[in-house]
Amino acid sequence: MTTPETGILPQHLLGIEGLTRDQISLFLDHAERYASFGARDAAFGRPLDGRTVINLFFENSTRTRTSFELAAKRLGADVINMEVGASSISKGETLIDTAVTLNAMHPEALVIRHADSGAVALLAQKVNCAVVNAGDGAHEHPTQALLDALTIRLRKGRLEGLTVAICGDVAHSRVARSNIHLLTTMGATVRAVGPRSLVPSGVRAMGAEIFHDMREGLRDVDIVMMLRVQTERMQGNFFPSAREYFRFFGLDREKLALARPDALIMHPGPMNRGVEIDSDVADDFERSVIRMQVEMGVAVRMAVLELLSNRTGREVVK
Ligand code: ASP
Repeated sequence: MTTPETGILPQHLLGIEGLTRDQISLFLDHAERYASFGARDAAFGRPLDGRTVINLFFENSTRTRTSFELAAKRLGADVINMEVGASSISKGETLIDTAVTLNAMHPEALVIRHADSGAVALLAQKVNCAVVNAGDGAHEHPTQALLDALTIRLRKGRLEGLTVAICGDVAHSRVARSNIHLLTTMGATVRAVGPRSLVPSGVRAMGAEIFHDMREGLRDVDIVMMLRVQTERMQGNFFPSAREYFRFFGLDREKLALARPDALIMHPGPMNRGVEIDSDVADDFERSVIRMQVEMGVAVRMAVLELLSNRTGREVVK
């Protein structure tokens, strides 16, 4: 498979904010080619043969790390997973020293997840390989938004003109932020739906409409994107109880009936069944594309790793 002209892309993928329609489309078009090949390695041509990709995860992750690992391996790269707990970070080395040390081993790309917003961008300034943000705090998770967009595009044939409701814990969600940037840039209408305590008014400035009544927010939408309630990022009480939350903001058949009859159900995972989503709708394979999202994750990460590799003119950091 030939690699398209990548001159319009930035050196790193730190977020969706600031990317143009053309840049987003380039990632999606290339990922779609990988998605159509399925898992048949021979068709990929191993464009990263002999290169190294390092996964540097400062925050727990199973699905995202595995997905990046599989993507890099399908491209033919060698993959190193940094066990951060066992690394020199715990011996007092600074974040920046860790990144500079890894950079000196000349990887093709560093895939970084960190609990603090902005930490990945900081590290990217200190290295000359490509850096891919695999999630930084509540800031951005760009490959998640790309895989969500690819899933929507494959099922609906377009992004432009669709209405997407992003529901639940918007305040703590990097998935929501990246999706709002991507979907508004691509011409979709985005609604942020959830309790006042979990939908910051700042999302309006990002182009989303705000709804605090889920029934209103879901009316006639094409896509219902549920978010996990991220209790690990909450200090104090943001809602009275999980039961109460489900009653007002959990997706069940009755609330789903307000969306368009062909509306798709999405969730980035991991799901809190019975809190933000009922199993009955999560497992409705006519409407729920949650498994397809996971599958598209590998295709998107292959495209991102390949397109950000082999770039000429990288500034050498001293
Ligand atoms: N897996 C996604 C993330 O890392 C969503 C979540 O954890 O709720 O942000």
